[in-house]
Amino acid sequence: MNVLPPLAVAGAASSLMAWAVRGRSASVFGRSIWHGPRDRKAVALTFDDGPSESTPEILEVLAEYGVTATFFQCGANVDRLPEIAREVAARRHEVGNHTYSHPYLFLRSPDGIETELRRAQETIESHTGVWPCWFRAPYGARWFGLGRAQRKMQLTGVMWSTIGYDWNRRASEVVARMAASTSNGAILCLHDGRELRKKPDVRATVETVRRLVPLLLDRGYKFETIGRLLCPKI
Ligand SMILES: [Zn+2]
Repeated sequence: MNVLPPLAVAGAASSLMAWAVRGRSASVFGRSIWHGPRDRKAVALTFDDGPSESTPEILEVLAEYGVTATFFQCGANVDRLPEIAREVAARRHEVGNHTYSHPYLFLRSPDGIETELRRAQETIESHTGVWPCWFRAPYGARWFGLGRAQRKMQLTGVMWSTIGYDWNRRASEVVARMAASTSNGAILCLHDGRELRKKPDVRATVETVRRLVPLLLDRGYKFETIGRLLCPKI
């Protein structure tokens, strides 16, 4: 009889748990998507941790190319920079929920998780008029109670097919990494802020957007919001 030693069982259980918490394709702790349909040459550019003082610079680059994106905003940053949050929505970009204070949700209580999501929803709505329907978990970490909170607020989780590591890499590396892994339906993750930092240094992100957008347009990709990518007929 083959019996797995207890350590192997514990190891398998813990790697399964790690996937449930951080795996981009996991929906264990709440409905979540990480990729769009592969039958159209369209991608979604997404930004987390904004708004920041540098968000307008990114908006200008996107406007130059007539591209729309999805911005997962933190409620605390929206409270700090409400005019910039409004400008994002006014330019027809999609606004998503990235919690109020950017906590690590892992091991948090279900009520604590719900409070973070609700406070962000209400803050975003009061400053932009938008009640988001997409949620991105800080650090990509999900936990028990998130699914219930998402359902209560009609939120769907959104992970990514490629993340840029733009917070600690040079633009050239980020562009190369993202361009190499982009395919139909890709959801690309960058950051127009750095958690809740004031005046964060997002130069690598701005430079990445300047180079990546024309590069992917030249390859024939269309940029869409998450809503449009998933429901092109709406
Ligand atoms: Zn974040």
